Amino acid sequence: MRIQVVGVVGAGVMGIGLAQNLAQNGHQVILVDISEEILERANAQIKKNIRFQGFFNKNEKVENSENCLHKIKFSTNYKFLEKAEFVIENATEKWDIKKGIYAQLDAICPKKTIFAANTSAISITRIASVTKCADKVIGMHFMNPVPMKPIVEMIRGYHTSDETISTAQELLSQMGKEGILVNDSPGFVSNRVLMLTINEAIFLLQDKVASVEEVDRIFKTCFGHKMGPLETADLIGLDTILFSIEVLYESFNDSKYRPCPMLKKMVDAGLHGRKTGQGFYAYSEAI
Ligand code: NAD
Repeated sequence: MRIQVVGVVGAGVMGIGLAQNLAQNGHQVILVDISEEILERANAQIKKNIRFQGFFNKNEKVENSENCLHKIKFSTNYKFLEKAEFVIENATEKWDIKKGIYAQLDAICPKKTIFAANTSAISITRIASVTKCADKVIGMHFMNPVPMKPIVEMIRGYHTSDETISTAQELLSQMGKEGILVNDSPGFVSNRVLMLTINEAIFLLQDKVASVEEVDRIFKTCFGHKMGPLETADLIGLDTILFSIEVLYESFNDSKYRPCPMLKKMVDAGLHGRKTGQGFYAYSEAI
């Protein structure tokens, strides 16, 4: 059965991409964030992204921005999410923030609504524990930029039901994507490896072993990666990298996940990567 209304919580890097991708595939979207200013920025960014997409895919039929934006309701009011059959949460990677959001979703949404956490590292079982419907909570770790990435890491929490998994797979197929299902563990498969790699690449810079460009070039030319670890960090957002590695550190109580001091300093200085216009590289505008 086709899912019609999807709630998207958080209108940052991931929420923007998801709302756009869902609307372009014909879903009605309710996009919720904490301020009108953030939502206005998200609206403008989606418009820009669609124009950019049209420019690069001249031969493909890309839904125009008017049609697409028409399908998205931007709001700071969680109440509108009572209409959502499926909610994908993309708020800041902080347990205290996510915990509060799931308690609100649990109180507002009907029992049958599925909650998908697009978290980088927080355990899905832990997220489900603050709801009364642990069987309806699943991890859906989308890749960035969402409209261009066809594979999603899906995470089965301790109580996630088979029905929830098959509904989530159905939504992905409606979005032209496919999931790879893994079991729950902080960081899952992708970020347990990626966050350590990025953190260690920052230690290399801190220890003056190589420059930013040299670190990235080694990964691209020697291993055939499309992007080096530091370019990837700028794309994800350095604040999100720091929060994720902190989640891994706390979850495993293992010192191998200690965040690099240089990463902490860059985040404190507001160098969050592409989204602020400056990270390991400089960007002509914040996106
Ligand atoms: P971001 O910082 O760009 O955006 C987070 C958004 O959440 C902000 O707009 C913020 O205002 C909003 N928010 C905070 N509290 C809220 C609340 N109570 N209700 C509604 N919105 C709230 O972060 P992002 O990069 O979009 O990451 C969002 C989530 O997706 C995180 O859990 C992150 O780990 C995960 N993720 C990120 C990437 C990536 O490449 N950036 C990839 C996959 C998953």
